[in-house]
Amino acid sequence: MTNKILHIAIAVKDIEASKKLFALISNATASETTVVSDQKVKVCFIETGETKIELIQPIEGNIGVAKFLEKRGEGLHHICLEVSDIELALADYKSRGFRLIDEVPRIGAEGHRVAFVHPQSTNGVLIELEESSRHG
Ligand code: ZN
Repeated sequence: MTNKILHIAIAVKDIEASKKLFALISNATASETTVVSDQKVKVCFIETGETKIELIQPIEGNIGVAKFLEKRGEGLHHICLEVSDIELALADYKSRGFRLIDEVPRIGAEGHRVAFVHPQSTNGVLIELEESSRHG
């Protein structure tokens, strides 16, 4: 089964400015900006059909995305793939030699269970796995 791309995430310094920019580029509507407090980021989604664009801006205390911006500047941060069962997917990726950031799923920006695969084992691109919603 193919793992569909759910969203492509871009790290930005000013989410409100970037939101306008990407809405304009994709001629699409941007969602409200929300704060994911346990990850210390602000996010919003640009509704571009089946695959969305996610914008992420770190807020005070975030280490991962803030470091990313410092080191690499604004740009592609991760690609999110849909999986039907996240525990199975994690065990499968691990058994195939991929390095996992999350051994145990966490709750992502849209309320689904997610986990990250380390970019060191995926050509430098952070991969997010998101479990498809079982209740619609
Ligand atoms: Zn994401």
